[in-house]
Amino acid sequence: MDDRTVKIIESLFKTYYVKHKHKIYEPPQLKNREFAFQMFKSQGMIRHLAFETPDELRKYIVNNIPRHSFYSTAIYILPSAHDMDEKGWINAEIVFDIDADHLDTECRNEHDFWQCLNCGHKDKGKAPEVCPKCGSKNIKIFTWVCAKCLDRAKNETLKLIEDFLVPDFGINPNNIMVAFSGHRGFHIHVMDEEYMKLSSEERRELVDYIKALGLKLEILVPKRRKGKEFPGFDVNDPGWRGKIARKLYDLLIEFEERKSEVEGVVGKKNAEKLLENLDRIIVEIMDKPPKWTTLYRVIGRKNLIELLKILVKDEKCEVDEKVTIDTKRLIRLPGTLHGKTGLPVIILGLEDLEDFTLNISLSPFKGKAKIILLEEIPQNLTIFGENVGGKMKDKKEVRLPTAIYLSCKGLAEIEEII
Ligand SMILES: [Zn+2]
Ligand SMILES: [Zn+2]
Repeated sequence: MDDRTVKIIESLFKTYYVKHKHKIYEPPQLKNREFAFQMFKSQGMIRHLAFETPDELRKYIVNNIPRHSFYSTAIYILPSAHDMDEKGWINAEIVFDIDADHLDTECRNEHDFWQCLNCGHKDKGKAPEVCPKCGSKNIKIFTWVCAKCLDRAKNETLKLIEDFLVPDFGINPNNIMVAFSGHRGFHIHVMDEEYMKLSSEERRELVDYIKALGLKLEILVPKRRKGKEFPGFDVNDPGWRGKIARKLYDLLIEFEERKSEVEGVVGKKNAEKLLENLDRIIVEIMDKPPKWTTLYRVIGRKNLIELLKILVKDEKCEVDEKVTIDTKRLIRLPGTLHGKTGLPVIILGLEDLEDFTLNISLSPFKGKAKIILLEEIPQNLTIFGENVGGKMKDKKEVRLPTAIYLSCKGLAEIEEII
């Protein structure tokens, strides 16, 4: 960011904090949390800060106008101690980070691209580790977040809460807090006392379960003994067996609409055979106890396992393991602005989450601005429904939230607010 743009963004952040300081989140046991900030003008993080009262915290933010604001998910005896051991860890919220960046969204091929800085080769979609043409690792990446990306992240978040945290882990929804991160996804905080005691290794077990790591269908689906019925999973089974059984039921009920998806896994011939025997298969899987005899007989064990694998892939949840297993994590403070987008971190109730979309109303800023693009931006790219494509050095007039978003990402400079 050039000096003029930094000045403009900083003063806009200041207006926000002066006007909306009451929106700055007050975490429970605030006194026992570590706070950390990154400023506009200096590199690096200012860490190990602690505040006695919410007012002190708000005053600090209004006086310093940080670019990024974080707080510890952990509760410490002495949060301001510089040595992690001296802080005296008591417990920590469990945090799940669901980031559009980690999801295989199809829209990525519409808005992400990369270019090899060694040979100039470029392509759309996710960047490779090394250039397939020349083998260089010197690759420039351009990524974008669109409304579809955030929609995927939102659905993943709802799945985490509704299919895992509440039913499987027995967490009271009142002890779950969800926040839009201000950029690419959502943070889910579990503030249940029992769970807050868990060690890093125990948290890893939770992640493995949610991501279905180590789930071996080859073991869960043994070979059928000739002439015997083949017992199936029950939709009421706990854990992954029940999840798979429910997903299988859904798949078979919607079989005709999803036939091509099934064909892709078991082949055309087998999909036909499934369709021919569909009613019988559904009756059997809903039987008490359920049977997968016809299902097994028609497509065979290998295909059955392949079919169940796609159900697992659908049901598992892509959480960022590093975040969840970290018991001393710093996480964005709700109510503060994200310095890479200018959007606030927003706490969402479960109903708000269902209605959440990436749109201009998320931004607290109004008005327009003149900007100059610092890089070429593909013609089809939009943010908040506004087209932002153009060549390097192009001058544009855009809405203020868009101008802030592009400048914070380093893609534009603000000439003036109009
Ligand atoms: Zn190359
Ligand atoms: Zn997208």
